[in-house]
Amino acid sequence: MEPGFRDSVDQMFNRAVGLMDLSPGLEEKIRVCNATYTVRFGVRLRGKIHTFTGYRSVHSEHMEPVKGGIRYSLNVDQDEVEALAALMTYKCALVEAPFGGSKGGLCVDPRDWDEHELEQITRRFAYELIKRDLINPSQNVPAPDMGTGEREMAWIADQYKRMHTTDINGNACVTGKPPHAGGIAGRVEATGRGVQYALRAFFRDDEGVKKAGMSGDLDGKRVIVQGLGNVGYHAAKFLREEDGCLITGIIERDGALFNPEGLDVERVREWIAKHGGISGYSDMHHVEDGATVLEEECDILIPAALEGVINLRNADRIKAPLIIEAANGPVTAGADQMLRERGVVMIPDMYANAGGVTVSYFEWVKNLSHIRFGRMGRRQEEARHQLIVSELERLSRDKELHWELSPDFKQKYLRGADELELVRSGLDDTMRIAYQAMADVWHARDDVEDLRTAAYLVAIDRVAKSYRAKGL
Ligand code: GLU
Repeated sequence: MEPGFRDSVDQMFNRAVGLMDLSPGLEEKIRVCNATYTVRFGVRLRGKIHTFTGYRSVHSEHMEPVKGGIRYSLNVDQDEVEALAALMTYKCALVEAPFGGSKGGLCVDPRDWDEHELEQITRRFAYELIKRDLINPSQNVPAPDMGTGEREMAWIADQYKRMHTTDINGNACVTGKPPHAGGIAGRVEATGRGVQYALRAFFRDDEGVKKAGMSGDLDGKRVIVQGLGNVGYHAAKFLREEDGCLITGIIERDGALFNPEGLDVERVREWIAKHGGISGYSDMHHVEDGATVLEEECDILIPAALEGVINLRNADRIKAPLIIEAANGPVTAGADQMLRERGVVMIPDMYANAGGVTVSYFEWVKNLSHIRFGRMGRRQEEARHQLIVSELERLSRDKELHWELSPDFKQKYLRGADELELVRSGLDDTMRIAYQAMADVWHARDDVEDLRTAAYLVAIDRVAKSYRAKGL
């Protein structure tokens, strides 16, 4: 029997905890969701009052603020937001983003409403959360998730600032805002970019690649991606354009495209934007029953849509030797076991899709520090950099500085990298370091057979340390 999403996450957690030496009390404290707030509110639209149900779940407050996206979908329920909030706790711990875990959701299909109606709905939902401090720069900081994006985050930030007019840190109440409204360059592409960096990190790990029965690097690898939304699209685009991957399959809600020669991701994306789906894109490569493409021969499978898409019903037919979980929870606990037994390597969600929250962290820091990141592009700025470098050189010469000023640093600093460059390099560093932490456990311990368990071990250990250090 397939468990629900929440139970599935707990089962994976329990598997890891079974290999740790945690007191049962602490183990339970970490696993459980601290609180889930449910709100029902009415909005007058199209001449009548419509009632909406929304949630904000806080999984762990071992660090504050707690962090996690807000999802708009008709499938949102308490079980789902709690599972997703738990995953946020472990994800943040794994990439060392200093946040606890949270998640929110609203039962609404954004396609049913036009823009100004969605703005009214979003502002009303935000109002309910803000007045209970469930949106707040120091306590709970949402971000985009499925069905939401920059536009919704800008409305939420504006709503917060209307309700807290003197809070100078108001912009930090939510991340994923548009760059011209307090956002940061590279946030929209961040999760897909993180998937790309995660795969690069994996293919640098010879032992890991061997465990998957694979060889070589990303060049020429056949990739099937499920869901060409923000995450799937950016991951597929970057892997194709920058790493030489062939995107052989794209699965969408109205069917799939499959072409062993490779598909043009950009053209497919444009087609979907124009026609609302992939139907009609190409008769030759169209597959009516999209689910069967999940089971096609390929090197890398990227589920980038919903949870639970690889489950007890189809796990034994999945042929990919490597699955990277761009979505949250795409593989159920039961399927995870079946795939592991067959030697399939899974790069787990809490690592694979952590690029989003990592760049959210940069945005939050930028908002709180009130300084611009990167080059200003003006002569004065270059002169200022020159002054700082001269001063550092003097300190370095006089041995007052404990590190040597390297020519490389000097050059980079003087050149004045722009914000996007700084964000990308920070994300790359984060993904490399987190991969190493996971892989060290995976390769060093005989009782740890997979990357997911290794990821949980690293994450749970960090959360436990934080609880022990500060007390409950
Ligand atoms: N919703 C994204 C996630 O699942 C991003 C969360 C964030 O940036 O806070 O990781």
